[in-house]
Amino acid sequence: MSKNIGAKPIDLRRQNYQSIIQLFRNHPTLAVRDIAQVLSLSKTAITNILNNLTEMDIIHAVGKGESTNQGGKKPEMYALNSDYGYVITAYFSHEFCLCQLYDMNYNVLGEAMESCTVQEGYPYEEVLSILARQISSVMEQNNLDERRLCGIVFQCAGIILHKEGILSRPILSPQWGNELHVIEDIRARLRISAPLYLNNTSRFHGCYELLECPERRNKNIITLFCSSTVGGSQLRMGHLIHGLTGLVGEYGHLTTDYTFSERCNCGNYGCFETSVSREPVLRRICRDLKTHAVSSLSRGDLSTLTIQEVFQAANDGDSLARKHLDYVIQQFTVLIYNMQITYDPDEIIIQGIYANSGSYFQKSLEENINHLSLHNIQNRMKLTFSFSYGTSSYPDQLDFAMKGAAFFCFDQYFKDLEFTV
Ligand SMILES: [Zn+2]
Repeated sequence: MSKNIGAKPIDLRRQNYQSIIQLFRNHPTLAVRDIAQVLSLSKTAITNILNNLTEMDIIHAVGKGESTNQGGKKPEMYALNSDYGYVITAYFSHEFCLCQLYDMNYNVLGEAMESCTVQEGYPYEEVLSILARQISSVMEQNNLDERRLCGIVFQCAGIILHKEGILSRPILSPQWGNELHVIEDIRARLRISAPLYLNNTSRFHGCYELLECPERRNKNIITLFCSSTVGGSQLRMGHLIHGLTGLVGEYGHLTTDYTFSERCNCGNYGCFETSVSREPVLRRICRDLKTHAVSSLSRGDLSTLTIQEVFQAANDGDSLARKHLDYVIQQFTVLIYNMQITYDPDEIIIQGIYANSGSYFQKSLEENINHLSLHNIQNRMKLTFSFSYGTSSYPDQLDFAMKGAAFFCFDQYFKDLEFTV
């Protein structure tokens, strides 16, 4: 691993602690040598950190493991104390509220869910009451001692001022008005002293990728989530980047096609979101299918067409499906080229529908990206296709964002602890 010249020593120390805690979440037990194989830290540094974490009751020594093939001393094994702390994550929109309780191993211990049955959706005030009720109920059902609650994370769609806890533009629920003081309003309804956080779902989809791979904490990562809408995040050295007014990550509204006549939800023309999100792509294909039907996608009832069928047809050589995907690939190429110049990231991670698009889309995009180059500088950026469809029935792969939010909350908690060695 290259040295992180820009990072402060105290920040690096925290990152080391957090990386080790994170490793335990994916492995039931670990010895010093197991950690040394994954993280670029000396065995002495790891032993010191493990001793400190044991003293803080965050991990436990659980006995001796097996010695290596070469023999030698049996190593001391450690495991996470999953009862050490809990977090609650809560998603809200005018249609749906979901609240989950997580332990440190990312098991969901309790859940409350409520969908709106009326067309116009929940008013903002009602969402606040539902959330407060859901939180109290998951805590009661699990006999949760508030002192063990590391924090509560709220997430929704829209532009967020995270420090102030304000939802400044609820883009998918415009009827709520602007500048909603979510954290303040929740505090007024909930007698809990634990820290409360607010951010948008795309950023927590980004945090999920750090949970998946602790090495990404030392990198500059961009995530791009595409489904019915487009959002994203920038994670630099394990930190979410927000910008002055919370706009970092609104990649759906970067302009990738100035000639495009369809107007975006934001009011502008030529946005990446109107070119690549699911419904506009399917609409354009259906329009084409009505006029020249030479495609394996042709059928009597076009409303049954899915984006997965389009990917499959392109993989099988269907020229109409390929023509439409070529346009989408071109938009991705423009976006990623601009992102490379803006961020010069180590990795761009594509999540959502295009993560499961198969060989035609992914190979063409990879080829295009490999040819992108400014001043003939060799492209070293990694392009990754991540999760697409989860197993849950929640909308927009929300299960990944809920887990990402839980990760964020534990991370904030451990960031605020004093690690002195
Ligand atoms: Zn837009």
